[in-house]
Amino acid sequence: MSELEASGYKGHALQLLKATDCGIGDILKIISKGKSYEGILIPRSGAGSAIIIKMKNGYNIGIEATVDVKIEKIGKGIAPQFEVPPLPKQNPALPHIFIVSTGGTIASRVDYRTGAVRTAMSASDLYGVVPELADVARIDTEIIFSIYSENLTPQNWTELATKVAERIEAGIDGVVIAHGTDTMGYTSAALSFALQNLPVPVILVGAQRSSDRPSSDAATNLIGAVKAAGEAPFAEVGLAMHETSSDIAIAIHRGTKVRKCHTSRRDTFKSINASPIARVQNLKVTMNTNSYQKRDSKRKLVLKPIFCDKVALIKFYPGLDPAVIDFYVEKGFKGILLEGTGLGHVSKFCFDAIKRAIEKGVVVALASQCIWGRVDMNVYNTGRDLLSLGVIPLEDMFPETSFVKLMWVLGQTNDSKEVATIMQTNLVGEISTRTLPQNLNVDGGSQ
Ligand code: ASP
Repeated sequence: MSELEASGYKGHALQLLKATDCGIGDILKIISKGKSYEGILIPRSGAGSAIIIKMKNGYNIGIEATVDVKIEKIGKGIAPQFEVPPLPKQNPALPHIFIVSTGGTIASRVDYRTGAVRTAMSASDLYGVVPELADVARIDTEIIFSIYSENLTPQNWTELATKVAERIEAGIDGVVIAHGTDTMGYTSAALSFALQNLPVPVILVGAQRSSDRPSSDAATNLIGAVKAAGEAPFAEVGLAMHETSSDIAIAIHRGTKVRKCHTSRRDTFKSINASPIARVQNLKVTMNTNSYQKRDSKRKLVLKPIFCDKVALIKFYPGLDPAVIDFYVEKGFKGILLEGTGLGHVSKFCFDAIKRAIEKGVVVALASQCIWGRVDMNVYNTGRDLLSLGVIPLEDMFPETSFVKLMWVLGQTNDSKEVATIMQTNLVGEISTRTLPQNLNVDGGSQ
C-alpha cells in the first residue's frame, strides 16, 4: 500500500495525486470550478473523494476530485524533523528501570505540518521530552513495536513477555511498557498470566492524548508508571493511568482487573470488581491494599508466554444464530468464551450448538457481559442447564480477562478437565473470592 493509500486516498483522487507525483506534505495548487487553492496535502479520514489541503491560514479544506479538477505540485514536502533533547544525567542511586515501547498514542506525536498523528516517538524520545524522569529513575529504553494496539496479536504478547523476562532476569528493578490504550487491558491480562512469580513490578502505561497536546496525560502517566516500577512494594503486572480527569494522581490497577471504559477521558481505565492496588501522588506511591505479591528481587520469574489463538469470544445477543458456535467448532477452535447475559445466561436456542461443541472437546466457558458482579448459574434454570451441558462459569472475571486467560490456559494444556480447573482457580488476582461493594463510577461526567 502506498503512503497515499495508507493516508485514506482512493479512486479518482488517488489517481490524480499519483499522476502528479504528489505525496503527503507536498505543496499543491488545485484548480476547481475556475478557482485556485494552494496548500499542503494532508491525510484524509473517512469516506469521500475530496483532496484535503492545509492552507496558509491554517484551515483545512476538501476539494472534490471531479473529472475537471487540475492539480499541480508546486513544492516538495520536507520530512518532519524531531530533535531529541540530550538525555539527562543518570543518578546511580536511583532504581534502574527498563521502558519498552510498543506504540500507541503515548509514543505518538502530531506532525503539525500535515496534522497527521504518527507513532514516531521512540522510548528514548519519551525520556528526552520528560526530563523529570531523571529524578525518578535510571532509564534503559527500547522499541519492540511501533504500532497502534488494535494491531497487536497474541504473538506480540509472547514476544513482549519474553523481552520483559530477559530484562528482569538480567536484574532490572522494574519494567514500564508504553502501550496504546485500546487493547492495553488485554495485554495487561496476558502479561499477568505469562509472567508468573514476578520479583519486580511490570507497569503498562498509555495516554489518551499525545505528548504534544496541551491536555496530554502522557508525561504524568509515564512519571507515575516509572515511580511505581522503581519503588512500589508490589511485584505484579499493573496498569498506570489518570485516577480522575484531573492531573492529581495516577491509579495503578491490577493487570487482570482493569478495563478501558471511556473512549476519550483520561481516567478511562477502571478496576472492575476490585479497587486499584496503588496510587501515585506527588511522586509518592501508596498501596490501597495489603493483599499483593511483595517485591523480592530474589524471587525466580516463571515465564509461560504461549497463547492459543484458536479461542473465540462470542457475545450473546437476542437472536444470536447458534450457527456462529458451530462455525468456530468446524474451524477447529479449541475454546469458546461466551459473553452471557446477567448472572450467566444464553438463550436455550444455543444449547444444542453448545452441546455439540463440548462433545467435540471444545472448552466452553462463560463470563457476564454485565462486567460488574459475579456469575451465578444456579439461580435460574437457564444457568443450571448450561452448567449441566459442561459450560464453565468464570466467577467475577470480566469477559476480556476471561478470554485472555482461556487463550493462555489452552496454550499450556489441552486436557479439558485441567483447563476447567485452572480457569476457575485464582492465579494472579483475576478472581476475587468476595464481591466487594463498588462505586461503579460510570456516569461519564465532565472531562
Ligand atoms: N488506537 C490507539 C491504540 O490503542 C489509541 C491509544 O493509543 O490510546 O494504540
